[in-house]
Amino acid sequence: MTYDVAIVGLGGMGSAIMAHCAARGASVIGLEQFQPVHDLGSSHGKSRMIRKAYFEDPAYVPLVVRAYELWRKLEHDSGEEILRLTGVLSVGEESSEIIAGTRRAAKDHGLELESLSKGEVKARYPTLELLEDEVAIFEPDGGVLNPERGVAAHLQVARAKGAELRFGVAMEKWQVAGEGFELRLSDGTQVLAGKLVLALGPWFQETLEALGVRIRVQRNVQAWFSPASNAYEASRFPAFLLNRRGLPAPLYGFPDFGDGVKAAYHGLGDLTDAERVDRTVNLARDVEPIARELERWMPGAARTLREAKPCMYTLTPDGNFVIDCHPQHAGVTLCGGFSGHGFKFAPVIGEIGADLALDGRSRHDIEFLSLRRFALDES
Ligand SMILES: Cc1cc2nc3c(=O)[nH]c(=O)nc-3n(C[C@H](O)[C@H](O)[C@H](O)COP(=O)(O)OP(=O)(O)OC[C@H]3O[C@@H](n4cnc5c(N)ncnc54)[C@H](O)[C@@H]3O)c2cc1C
Repeated sequence: MTYDVAIVGLGGMGSAIMAHCAARGASVIGLEQFQPVHDLGSSHGKSRMIRKAYFEDPAYVPLVVRAYELWRKLEHDSGEEILRLTGVLSVGEESSEIIAGTRRAAKDHGLELESLSKGEVKARYPTLELLEDEVAIFEPDGGVLNPERGVAAHLQVARAKGAELRFGVAMEKWQVAGEGFELRLSDGTQVLAGKLVLALGPWFQETLEALGVRIRVQRNVQAWFSPASNAYEASRFPAFLLNRRGLPAPLYGFPDFGDGVKAAYHGLGDLTDAERVDRTVNLARDVEPIARELERWMPGAARTLREAKPCMYTLTPDGNFVIDCHPQHAGVTLCGGFSGHGFKFAPVIGEIGADLALDGRSRHDIEFLSLRRFALDES
């Protein structure tokens, strides 16, 4: 049999693309080297932040607005609760990347944002103490996604729409075969498909580098702590971004949903690759710097360590994603380089990936995510 579409990599993005392709009636096969919803790539760790006032670049706002709609639809279709609205509190100096960028995106797109005075911060969150030059903004639409449930729900919807899913089998090679593609798999079998989607997460390095895009894979540790009081329970405390002067990178985190307060640094960690990443946690090197600054920012939050786990960022040179057709093979869709901020977009990436695979173009404005920007950069 020749499938309409083969999707390789069933993490955050591949699972979504598979669900959207299958929902449009295409015959689909999804291939994943590990087991479903594993913790060896980039889509694990119980929480991912979602927010609309996108400090990284306002061009993402229409995509994230659509992602909110599609997350709610996925919850409806799967029966899973995936997105919980907590609001997002951002703190930093007015000129910091996060504060200035969040305000710019909100202004450009008319998004709701509250500026909180120091007194208002104290009244809402009595344990917090802002530094002299810091300001606080609160995005009421912000929230927390459960990545494991998100991936599982997309797999579930894809299967219900007739997709074939194969786990524990890696694609070793692909090549053009007639009008489509032949995939050679690690179990010695082959798959034929008219279109191919590659959503390889940190395993994308080689493919993207062969196309001239430098990719850095970064090891990032996320840590969970039992707090000393109920001050940080999700019913009374939001997700947060702290762009504080003197920190090695922005500290972000999530309130306690019953499994502790989670915190991590955004974009801080050793460069590595997906095969050699160190999966052991070193308390002094990985956890202590998080615990120390979390405790300073949220007194009592980091009383005892519960758990810590490494994850991987797949960083492009400009921090923007790569979503495009392969320059030499229009039937191959590339979705990667999510640079540590992609999960919130997963269902809209699903929609875009299905557009590209099935129609050759997307209804969304994704020019800023195309491979052409790297060629332009070099000229
Ligand atoms: C610590 C951490 C915190 C983050 N926080 C946020 C956040 O708050 N908000 C947010 O929006 N984003 C966040 N992100 C980023 C987000 O999680 C990622 O951008 C997203 O999960 C990437 O999904 P992916 O599908 O590209 O990669 P993955 O989920 O890793 O999926 C790639 C899959 O491809 C499979 N694969 C690779 N090669 C092959 C092959 N040859 N054959 C078969 N299978 C293959 C892999 O096994 C894997 O399952 C965070 C990331 C990390 C690490």
